[in-house]
Amino acid sequence: MSEFGLEDLPIRDDLRGRTPYGAPQLDVPVALNTNENPYPPSPRLAEALARAVADVAVGLNRYPDRDAVRLRSALADYLGHGLDVRGVWAANGSNEILQQVLQVFGGQGRTAMGFEPSYSMHPVITGVTGTRWVAERRGDDFSIDPAEARAAVLRHRPDVVFLTSPNNPTGTALPLETIEAVAEVAPGVVVVDEAYAEFRREGTPSALSLLPRHPRLIVSRTMSKAFAMAGARLGYLAAHPAVVDAIQLVRLPYHLSAVTQAVAVTALDFADELLGTVKQLREERDALVAWLRERGFSVADSDANFVLFGVFPDRGEVWRRMLDQGVLIREVGPSGWLRVSVGTPEENAAFRAALSNVTGH
Ligand SMILES: *Cc1c(COP(=O)(O)O)cnc(C)c1O
Repeated sequence: MSEFGLEDLPIRDDLRGRTPYGAPQLDVPVALNTNENPYPPSPRLAEALARAVADVAVGLNRYPDRDAVRLRSALADYLGHGLDVRGVWAANGSNEILQQVLQVFGGQGRTAMGFEPSYSMHPVITGVTGTRWVAERRGDDFSIDPAEARAAVLRHRPDVVFLTSPNNPTGTALPLETIEAVAEVAPGVVVVDEAYAEFRREGTPSALSLLPRHPRLIVSRTMSKAFAMAGARLGYLAAHPAVVDAIQLVRLPYHLSAVTQAVAVTALDFADELLGTVKQLREERDALVAWLRERGFSVADSDANFVLFGVFPDRGEVWRRMLDQGVLIREVGPSGWLRVSVGTPEENAAFRAALSNVTGH
């Protein structure tokens, strides 16, 4: 008797043949593949988190605050820029934020657009919400030319435009002029995915400063990267309050658990401590870029906590041999390139040693 499998189920036609998102989760000594912050919460923070969870535990028979008001206020305070609770929305990771945005502004007969290479989940979430995906290319240096971007938006008239800054997997931050060039002509909403905002180099602005002038601009952020809270699953957006009102039409009731809200509020109380590692990670990143360039590798300028480098005739082979030495990096981006997340000084040293062994550089 043959096995009953996925292909035997009456799933949606447009989901047939798809594979789920799957960065390898391997148990390795040095995991530098998903851009997490390598520093775990301090014992003091871990204790505060446990207390916060204990406090809400006795009320778990009740649904949580559906509007997550306390958390959204704390996020608004953290962001500054004159934002308040009405202009901030939170969800289970910024991937859920992006899904909610597409559920409102995308869907059947609608189009979302991005500039590739970029974050692989943008086309995936676009497709899953029944939205059509169109991609334009970034330049050879992974930048986006403002005039070409404007022309592309006028040509495709997308309902949603994704601009990732700093970009994943290249690390490239966009000047505000590029974002404005797109926002000025976009007929729908423009989402600036700023998952790595806290890592950007001195003088690189955030799209948050453009919000007052562009009511259809959405800036998405996450606590998964700089905030060292990937396991807590908390993403958020900042936008005109009307955008937050629109999201209410699609969000599931009580989507954000009381435990998640309590954990995130507590982590925000420790923002200084959590973000204290960011300065060090930026310095380690800049040192890693310099080290790779000294050895003759091509390296993309990075405003994030990872570095894209190459170019290898067989990057899969380099990736595998690095893994053999206990160092897991990511095979992603344009062909021939590899991405490494910035880890602790010890992890970065292990990466450098393994890469020298593998490549002889
Ligand atoms: C990691 C990442 C996210 C964050 O996802 P979460 O769901 O918040 O963990 C969003 N956008 C980009 C570009 C990323 O690299």
